[in-house]
Amino acid sequence: MTVVCRARSAVVFLCAALVWAGSIGCRQDDAPPPAAAPPVATTAPAFDTPLPPYTKYLAGLRICLDPGHGGDAHRPNYKRGPTGLREAEVNLAVAQHLRDLLEVSGASVIMTRTQDVCLHAEDEEDLRLRAELANRSGCDLLVSIHHNAGPPQANYSSVWYHADVDHSPASLDVARYVATALLDELRLPDQLGVPVLSDQLVYPRSGFRLLRLARVPAILCELSFHSNPEQETRLRDPNYLRREARALFTGLARYAFGGVPRVRLIEPADGVVSTSGQDQVVIELDDGLRSRKSWGWERRLILKDSIIVRVDDTKWPYMFDEQSNRVSLYLPRRAPGSVRIGIQFENLFKHSNTRPWLTLQVRPSPS
Ligand SMILES: [Zn+2]
Repeated sequence: MTVVCRARSAVVFLCAALVWAGSIGCRQDDAPPPAAAPPVATTAPAFDTPLPPYTKYLAGLRICLDPGHGGDAHRPNYKRGPTGLREAEVNLAVAQHLRDLLEVSGASVIMTRTQDVCLHAEDEEDLRLRAELANRSGCDLLVSIHHNAGPPQANYSSVWYHADVDHSPASLDVARYVATALLDELRLPDQLGVPVLSDQLVYPRSGFRLLRLARVPAILCELSFHSNPEQETRLRDPNYLRREARALFTGLARYAFGGVPRVRLIEPADGVVSTSGQDQVVIELDDGLRSRKSWGWERRLILKDSIIVRVDDTKWPYMFDEQSNRVSLYLPRRAPGSVRIGIQFENLFKHSNTRPWLTLQVRPSPS
């Protein structure tokens, strides 16, 4: 049975809406335009080109890939290039190539879809289900894969994050690497001065539903414009789709090379504190690099001044032990319920930790 998707997808609208803003921004940044656009790279490296050695640091990462759209073949002129190439099919093919590359490198991959379907007939529900799948999978990253649409001449890459730059620093880490790799590998005729963009440029209050609902670092990539006639021709070539996948892969691998910092609750081991405010909370900061035991690994690889501790959104005093890489703090007296502790820090590569929030239970002190 064919699952039907409706057209009111926030992400769908993006593909047309951002073009105008993006095109205008590009002209402003790069004016006057170059006399001749640089050539588009069409000779992709062979698919069996040896992978760079740093791709091994993808091993153990858990990445959720979201090929945008799907299940919309019955809709005339919906998300199609000038000669009818469907974005949903291209997104899926790129995601599948990327999955293969990631799995060869030891990452585990969760796909929001592996066929030409959507997850729900209602677009908003479809996007909610995709975000929920990523959130429940325990993945480290969510990468949504799209192709853009706009005026026939437009053709550039963009990578989108949710809300403000402070919202999820780890998402920006991934976005920067992926955006740069897309420029390196695709060499499209146009580029934005800053190709990493907030989804609130399109939807000022809400941003994109998928990114808004994600509880893990998340980016949405508009790899190229399927509405551009020349680009649509390239996107019909399976080797070119591998090239796009390889660009995403390179960006993710470079990110992994810089380490994926995380936090881990040490005390209280059971995640329960008392209402008295006497409990010490100890949290270990994993810089994502020490475990490699590379030269100098014993030194501090965390930028001390980057550490920020929050208790329920209020910045909070803490102690940091450089030997153990542990942060300790005392919570105030509080009513029974729960308390959220946010820890944010950067490692030597300026990578922020991926899951900054811990939730502890607060129970009455024993009498
Ligand atoms: Zn799209």
